[in-house]
Amino acid sequence: MQTLTLLGATGSIGRSTLEVVALHPERYRIFALSAHRNVPLLAQQCVRFDARYAVVSHAQEAEQLHRLLRQQPVPVLTEVLVGAQALCTVASHPQVDTVMAAIVGAAGLPSTLAAAQAGKRILLANKEALVMSGSLLMQTVHHHGATLLPVDSEHNAVVQSLPATPGALQAKGVARIILTASGGPFLHHPLSALAQVTPAQACKHPNWSMGQKISVDSATMMNKGLELIEACWLFDARPEQVDILIHPQSIIHSLVSYVDGSVLAQLGNPDMRTPIAHALAWPERITAGVAALDLTAVAALHFLPLDLERFPAVRLATEAMNRGGTSPAILNAANEVAVEAFLQGRLRFDQIAQVNEQVLAQLSPTAADTLQQILAADDLARQQALQQMARMSAA
Ligand code: NAD
Ligand code: MG
Repeated sequence: MQTLTLLGATGSIGRSTLEVVALHPERYRIFALSAHRNVPLLAQQCVRFDARYAVVSHAQEAEQLHRLLRQQPVPVLTEVLVGAQALCTVASHPQVDTVMAAIVGAAGLPSTLAAAQAGKRILLANKEALVMSGSLLMQTVHHHGATLLPVDSEHNAVVQSLPATPGALQAKGVARIILTASGGPFLHHPLSALAQVTPAQACKHPNWSMGQKISVDSATMMNKGLELIEACWLFDARPEQVDILIHPQSIIHSLVSYVDGSVLAQLGNPDMRTPIAHALAWPERITAGVAALDLTAVAALHFLPLDLERFPAVRLATEAMNRGGTSPAILNAANEVAVEAFLQGRLRFDQIAQVNEQVLAQLSPTAADTLQQILAADDLARQQALQQMARMSAA
C-alpha cells in the first residue's frame, strides 16, 4: 500500500490521477489533496478518497471547504490546512511515500523540493519546478535518496525507452533523445494571422485535454521548450542531444535513438492516465483505464520537422539552458506572466514570445544554487515581464 499526497488534485493531471487511484484501492491510499480555487471539487475528492488533509491557498477557501465538509451526511475527518507552507508539510510528511506534483507553474516548486528533501517518490507533472531549479532539484533528489519519475508523457516515454540500468547516456549507447510534439492548434495556421488568435482557440488542443496554461504553452510550443530543459536535467543530456520531432497525432510519445541504429519508442493513445499509471506503479504495471492502441485504425504515422520561425520558444529554451544559472527560471517566469496576460486578453498571442525573448535577453543569469536565489530570479523576471508588457502596450 502506497500513501499518496496529491498536489494540484483539482487540475487535469490531479483528476486523472484520482481516476487511476480509484481503480486500485488496494494499492493506493490518499493522505493529502490540494487545490487553489476549486473548493467544491476538492470537497468531493476529500469525501470520496477519505483524505486525511486538504490544503487550500487562502483562509477564504478554507472556510468554504469546512462548510462543505460539515454539510456531508456522514462525518468527514479531513483536516483543512492553509497556505504554501502547508503544501510542503503534506509533501514531506513522514507517513507519505509518494507525492504527485501536479500544481501548475512556479507555485509548485517549494513543495516539490520539500518532497525531494524528505526522500519521497516524486511523480513529477509540474515541469516548471524542474525547469526553474534543475541542478538544485536533481542534487536534492540524489542527496536525499528520493526517486523522481516524470509524468510528462514525453519524458515518461523516454524513461520507458531507456535501459533501466543507471549510468550516463553515452554508456547506454544512446545517440539522441527525440521528443515528439503535436505542434498544437496553430501548426498550419497562417503566420500572419497568429496575432489575432484568441485564448479559446489557443486552448483547443487537437489531441490532449489539459489545463489552460499548458494548453497555451503547447500552442506557442514553449511547452516543448520547457520539456527540452526538463529532458536535459532528467537524463543528464546537453540540449544538442535532444531533438524535437513534430508528430501531429500524438501516438508516439517520444523515442530514443541508439548508436547501433536502433530506435525505441513508446506508443499509446494520447491519455495522461497511461504515464500517470506508469509512474504510480513503476517498476510494476497497473491498468490505467485507457483503451488499447489500435494501430490499424491509426493506419499511418506522420512526422514533420520543427519550424523555428513559427515556434521561437524552442530556440529561447535552448538559449536559456545554454546560458545556465537562473536563465531557465527567468524564461519560465516571463512566460508565466505573458501567458496569464494572454489568457486575460491583455497580450496578443505573438507577443508572448516577444516578452519571453526580451526578458531573457535583459536579465543576466546568476547562481541558482538555493531556493531563495531561484525565487528571487523568478520575482525579478516577473517584474521585468510586466514592465516589458507596459512598454509594448504604450508603443
Ligand atoms: P490545471 O490548471 O488543470 O491544474 C493545476 C492545479 O494546480 C489545480 O489543482 C490548481 O488548483 C493548482 N494550482 C494552481 N495554481 C496554484 C497555486 N498558486 N498554488 C497552489 N495550487 C495551485 O493544470 P494541469 O494541466 O493539470 O497541469 C499541471 C502540471 O502538469 C503543469 O505543470 C503542466 O505543465 C503539467 N502537465 C500537464 C499535462 C496535462 O495533460 N494536463 C501533461 C504534462 C504535464
Ligand atoms: Mg508533455
